[in-house]
Amino acid sequence: MNAVSLSSAFTGRVVRGEPMSRHTSWHVGGPAEIYFEPRDVHDLEAFLRALPADAAVTWIGLGSNLLVRDGGVRGAVVATHGVFDRLHRLSQTEVHCEAGVPCARLAKQCVKWGLGPAEFFAGIPGTLGGALAMNAGAFGGETWSHVVHVETIDRAARHHQRPREDYTVGYRSVRQTNPPPTEEWFLGARLKFERRPQAHADDIRALLERRKETQPIGAWSGGSTFVNPPGDHAARLIETAGLKGHRIGGASVSTKHANFILNEGHATAADIENLIVTVQQTVRRIHGVALQTEVRIIGETA
Ligand SMILES: Cc1cc2nc3c(=O)[nH]c(=O)nc-3n(C[C@H](O)[C@H](O)[C@H](O)COP(=O)(O)OP(=O)(O)OC[C@H]3O[C@@H](n4cnc5c(N)ncnc54)[C@H](O)[C@@H]3O)c2cc1C
Repeated sequence: MNAVSLSSAFTGRVVRGEPMSRHTSWHVGGPAEIYFEPRDVHDLEAFLRALPADAAVTWIGLGSNLLVRDGGVRGAVVATHGVFDRLHRLSQTEVHCEAGVPCARLAKQCVKWGLGPAEFFAGIPGTLGGALAMNAGAFGGETWSHVVHVETIDRAARHHQRPREDYTVGYRSVRQTNPPPTEEWFLGARLKFERRPQAHADDIRALLERRKETQPIGAWSGGSTFVNPPGDHAARLIETAGLKGHRIGGASVSTKHANFILNEGHATAADIENLIVTVQQTVRRIHGVALQTEVRIIGETA
């Protein structure tokens, strides 16, 4: 991608060949052709305008739902974490949160403000931008249940404000349907909660403790690898197919929670992807169910 020169007048950080393994919770992934951490929204606008029209653009939050292949990512990767990080209260029940804010911070701040239910955000180790893209949810709560509107930016650096009604939202799925899909990314959202003066930081701690008992929190993973099929649990299907502990290279199916695939320290993205395919094939053969990935797989094979 020659048109974006490193000497261009961006004040943010532009790196050629940044290893994506530094930016994903699986700690795997080859280099991004261009990795960009904008300094602010104007910097981002200038960058988007300078990109060649045919250059692919991938946005990344905390990389907690991303498997980046070993050959890396063509085009530009735009990182939001640490950049779009403002969070403030707008009214008795509404807050404005930028896309780079970690969900855990949103949860804690809402509890301090006496707003909820927002504790569930503490269980999502990503940014609000990633949570909006995924309709991330935990402990019975879902991101889009709280969206009043989102702010987006498109490929030509134009800004939009879109109400919730412009999106078709389902379990771990979000699709812009009005107007028909264009290439847009989330810069922030106006979120609505209820007044919960009794909300307490201990509620968050209790939820996280409960989770630690059943999930390999702290290990290198992408969280739940597969979405739960209707009326069932991916973990149950994987476990009863005898796959707990199954390994390929440095990747293994967690023995604690079968829907988690772990990088034991030396896995490649190919190990993880091969294990994902093996799990899908085995579950299909034994249970007749086609598991769909919840994690997003991007990039080129090595
Ligand atoms: C240990 C662990 C536990 C987890 N538990 C849960 C859970 O309980 N519930 C749950 O739902 N998820 C869970 N996850 C998955 C993950 O944390 C969520 O999907 C989260 O919302 C991803 O946010 P992120 O910022 O890391 O996004 P990334 O992984 O960086 O990106 C995910 C997707 O969102 C897109 N994206 C990111 N930012 C933007 C943006 N600003 N605009 C448009 N698109 C964007 C990316 O391009 C990509 O397609 C877990 C993951 C781990 C590792």
